Amino acid sequence: MRQEHLQIPMIDLKRTHKPIESDLQSAFNRVLGNNSYILGKEVEALEKKCADYLNVKYAIGTSSGSDSLLLALMALDIKPGDEVICPTYTFFATAGAISRLGAIPVFVDIDPQSYNLSLKGVKKAITKKTKAIIPVHLFGQCADMTPLLELGKKKKIAIIEDAAQAFGAKSPGEMAGSMGDFGCFSFFPSKNLGGFGDGGLLTTQDPELYERAKILRAHGAKPKYYHHLIGGNFRLDALQAALLAVKLPMVNNYAFKRQQIAKAYTSHLLESDLATLKGQENGKPINLPVQVQEDSFHVWNQYVIQLTEADKRASLQEYLKQRGVATAIYYPLPLHWQTCFSDLGYKKGDLPVAELASQTTLALPIFPEMTEAECAYVAEHIQQFFYS
Ligand SMILES: *Cc1c(COP(=O)(O)O)cnc(C)c1O
Repeated sequence: MRQEHLQIPMIDLKRTHKPIESDLQSAFNRVLGNNSYILGKEVEALEKKCADYLNVKYAIGTSSGSDSLLLALMALDIKPGDEVICPTYTFFATAGAISRLGAIPVFVDIDPQSYNLSLKGVKKAITKKTKAIIPVHLFGQCADMTPLLELGKKKKIAIIEDAAQAFGAKSPGEMAGSMGDFGCFSFFPSKNLGGFGDGGLLTTQDPELYERAKILRAHGAKPKYYHHLIGGNFRLDALQAALLAVKLPMVNNYAFKRQQIAKAYTSHLLESDLATLKGQENGKPINLPVQVQEDSFHVWNQYVIQLTEADKRASLQEYLKQRGVATAIYYPLPLHWQTCFSDLGYKKGDLPVAELASQTTLALPIFPEMTEAECAYVAEHIQQFFYS
């Protein structure tokens, strides 16, 4: 059977933006006429809308997800020599923010089913110097927050949610970013609520932390030119805020569509008899991602499969590329193996679940406008690779 050759990118922002083009244009024109391009009423309006949607008391627009993390740690007064626990299997920014303050990232392994921070690992890593824990809601699924929040409360350790990939996600009953001392979001274009450049959001329920973070966002000044703290320039642009406000009402709908694509991938690949769901591994070549906690809301920023044989990954990736299907590896090197952290003394085998994941996972294209036919095309070529 000869198939039509499709080109399927990881994400297709042009398709996402086409139906809202005129609304984006008018938001752009509004800012153009405002004479105010940084913070201001556009940013305040977005902060208010995001706070309502995310069910938090306070939201602060920032320059990026990375800067949201840095700002959270600064507001919590994390100092040189303090220890901050985070997963080793995440985007670099989670740990980079810790190191930039002279604090020590303490890397912990992940849960094999969810790819999120392992609670057992966290418990073992806590010392007298532990000041904060950063669970990451990886790929759009919340980490198991209830025991972490209890632990944080009991031991007086701050919890910072890295919710960069999880705008709109829910832990049973609670919105991502509303549970910890801080929630850190990114508006990087490929995130579930993506802007048109860099941007981010910091959320909190605590009025004092909010006040500190807000001051730190603009060089620690209040009022302007009177500096109480040493902050930085972590501000969001009015233009980003105005454009993001156009996309915000769509974010649940985007998540539902992503869920449908995830469901379609899962049923195609299960039908092919090549795959099993994660948590039920039985030697089949592919393990499929699952929503681990019932009553949660997984927003599927990524659909990540795991191969049983590591040496198949590069050839599968190449096979799909030849057939027009983009894939990506999140993440090829766990953080405890990164050169920049070599002086922390981690060795091969220290965090085995993450090490294996870094060698065997592959992210497939997923975006709200992806069609059922495109989904079937990807699944079919994965099948052909294994049967050929
Ligand atoms: C994208 C991302 C960040 C950083 O966000 P930027 O806006 O790109 O700075 C941090 N943590 C995780 C888990 C991310 O995926």
